Amino acid sequence: MKNIIILMLIVIISTGCNQIEPTENEGEEQKNQSVSDSTQIEEKAKKENIKSEATDLKDEIDISLKPNETGKVMVLMYHNIGQEEAEWVRTPENFKKDLLTLYEKGYRPISLRDYVTGNITTDEGYTPVVITFDDGNKNNFEYLEDNTIDKDSAVGVLMDFNKEYPDFSSTATFFLNGDVPFGQEGQEADKIKFLLENGMDVGNHTRTHANFTEISKEGLQEEIGAQAQYLEEFIEDDSYSIDTIALPFGSRPNDDSLTSFLKEGTYNDIAYKNIAILNVGWDPGDSPYNNSFDFESIPRIRASEMKVDDVGIYNYIEYFDNNPEERFISDGYPEIITVPKNKVDLLEKDLNKEKYIYEN
Ligand SMILES: [Zn+2]
Repeated sequence: MKNIIILMLIVIISTGCNQIEPTENEGEEQKNQSVSDSTQIEEKAKKENIKSEATDLKDEIDISLKPNETGKVMVLMYHNIGQEEAEWVRTPENFKKDLLTLYEKGYRPISLRDYVTGNITTDEGYTPVVITFDDGNKNNFEYLEDNTIDKDSAVGVLMDFNKEYPDFSSTATFFLNGDVPFGQEGQEADKIKFLLENGMDVGNHTRTHANFTEISKEGLQEEIGAQAQYLEEFIEDDSYSIDTIALPFGSRPNDDSLTSFLKEGTYNDIAYKNIAILNVGWDPGDSPYNNSFDFESIPRIRASEMKVDDVGIYNYIEYFDNNPEERFISDGYPEIITVPKNKVDLLEKDLNKEKYIYEN
């Protein structure tokens, strides 16, 4: 309907010009005028359209699901998947148990990238969760002799779980340090390709699993930059960059003047830039729409049941069971940020998204 009105307006404007029979120059000016008029009208109509579409979408949001997009998001930290459970090892069975528990309690994985860029596409009523693995151990992703993926490796478990529960995606980020990520030489590129093709990501865990507390400025940039360049060599897609980092030991430079090099720096005249810097402990992360969200310091929760000091995955699952109002609950519309009125103070003020505040 609006398009028809615009068309009619354009017709009226241009017909008007013809009737006056202007001189050549005036005609040119008026033509320009009418073109810019109609462009403005179209622009305005476009804006109104977007606005009314967003308003329409708000009507679709089911507030009985208590969406709260200022709530907390767990970023889980795993290391090894192995046959014997230990402080830094989860058995395949326990890893499956974690996934199933998350599934049943309404959590759905999103990529780290989507989390930090605020592109939360989680279905309405569900809570996003981010899964990460550090150190690129072979048990994270192993090809067997027949060239199939070991079903008991992290990638094997994630893929199989996704087959059984298609609405629980297999997305996860693997933070890789040193040479030969995933421990099978010659298969690095194939593995990274497989991960990216299946919605998973690879991130930086430094060249030598360095402790950053006493590092030099040059050393810090080499640890991050050299590893980013090393990993990018395996990736065909030039648009994909290694731009997330998990800090080894969760360590940061004692010298504050070096902190900015965690985010940006140069090694061998090639620049690197990180859009997410991940810590080792202990809390759930802030919503990316919150004024307290800090991509340079994203906390992670240990996905273990050993020595977790009451701040492990099951402690927080229980915490959110008891405090559901603290948990991020998606409205199902990534372009609209829905929050109950009593949480509105937490929202980032300069958010470039439509907001929907409802009475709770
Ligand atoms: Zn590590």
